[in-house]
Amino acid sequence: MISNEFISQLSSRLGFQLTGFAPAAKLTRETELLTNWISDGHNAGMGYMSRNFDKREDVRVLLPSAVSVISLAMNYFPGDFPAPPQDSCKVSRYAWGDDYHDIIGNKCREMINICKGKDSSFEAVYNVDSGPVMDKSWAVRAGIGWLGKHTNVINGNSGSWFFLATIICNKEFRYSAAVEDHCGDCTACIDACPTEAIIAPYRLNSGKCISYLTIENKNDIPAEFAGKFDNWAFGCDICQEVCPWNLKFAEITSEEAYKGNNQYLDRGEINSMDSAQFKTKFINSPVLRPKLKGIQRNLSFLEKDY
Ligand code: SF4
Ligand code: SF4
Repeated sequence: MISNEFISQLSSRLGFQLTGFAPAAKLTRETELLTNWISDGHNAGMGYMSRNFDKREDVRVLLPSAVSVISLAMNYFPGDFPAPPQDSCKVSRYAWGDDYHDIIGNKCREMINICKGKDSSFEAVYNVDSGPVMDKSWAVRAGIGWLGKHTNVINGNSGSWFFLATIICNKEFRYSAAVEDHCGDCTACIDACPTEAIIAPYRLNSGKCISYLTIENKNDIPAEFAGKFDNWAFGCDICQEVCPWNLKFAEITSEEAYKGNNQYLDRGEINSMDSAQFKTKFINSPVLRPKLKGIQRNLSFLEKDY
């Protein structure tokens, strides 16, 4: 039998720190909030957020036999930044090592295969951030944590430096209780955001967020943000760095693949690279996402800060 205990032990063995279970119900309230967010234009250039709404709202469109959703979280915190080399710019911690989509995708596939080996009637699909599945909403429903005012999920014992994965399956479990919001009166993330991207508690305008502007954004970075990027060339960690839950509970990940050496980008090296050299240097790295052109755009935007 595929029980809660079996899944929790298996996920722990595969390197996940947190496991939660939720019934595969429609995400009606969450997709309403998503619709409002998109109609306000806060998804910026991420047009894909408005596609596949049927799947986002109801995982049974992805897996008609779905009964439960398993939410998994894996700590990626690689530690604090070392002293910066000369003429270098910062990379978000999640991209210091190898691409989590591959690492966690492999673990989810292994988990599903082991479950199928134990029970041939087990059916499941998984998502790691990139498909039309609301990983954060499922993490909240499955009791992994609460949605912080910076819109990342926070766990009361470990903070928010974790990647999420979602496994949708056809088995029933005992379901986890949702976790109460413990942000309280804190506004540290809102106050610290250098571009005022957290426009209200729990509301992020992606078009103002350094993470979006340096990674997903395909256009020029608007001049209004000049001098505000705090030397971030790929992503931004500030709202998580200042969160008291991370300051208190963050622990270094045991997953060596997340502890790579891409803490900084060397301006001279990046600016003199061609695409082939870029792909070779950053093989398996999330830094590839905006392509060399995007990274060079970011560096040239940061030059205005020097
Ligand atoms: S990632 Fe950076 S820019 Fe985006 S909301 Fe957080 S602090 Fe602001
Ligand atoms: S910094 Fe404060 S308000 Fe922001 S997510 Fe953390 S606890 Fe919540």
